[in-house]
Amino acid sequence: MTGERDADCLFCKIATGEIPGDVVHETESTLAFRDIEPQAPTHILVIPRSHQPNVATLAAKEPETALALLDAVAAVAEQEGLEAGYRVVFNTGAQAHQSVFHVHAHLLGGRTMGWPPG
Ligand code: 5GP
Repeated sequence: MTGERDADCLFCKIATGEIPGDVVHETESTLAFRDIEPQAPTHILVIPRSHQPNVATLAAKEPETALALLDAVAAVAEQEGLEAGYRVVFNTGAQAHQSVFHVHAHLLGGRTMGWPPG
């Protein structure tokens, strides 16, 4: 794995295979796996293999990986047949209910989404 790693991070452990994940897509710098507690018929987490705590630090420190992450989100959405629409969410910080501090895009689809989000 290239880039940063945090030995105590759950998503770093999924990225290295130390903890199993239901992986649906991977590239050299990204991994996508199904959320353990899905909030929609399709709910996939797309992460960089490198450990960055949130989308802001990823964009600032590893812009090429940030772009690769967005490319991976688009590829997974196509692979999952979400052409009717999908939502991409980066919960960032405690007030936004971020609970795992390894940046991840939630890719949600397969149902009509509500707005505004809660
Ligand atoms: P956050 O609240 O940080 O935006 O999202 C963390 C997400 O990780 C949650 O949707 C939660 O269900 C998911 N999650 C937590 N632990 C695991 C796990 O061990 N495996 C998988 N696949 N998802 C997890």
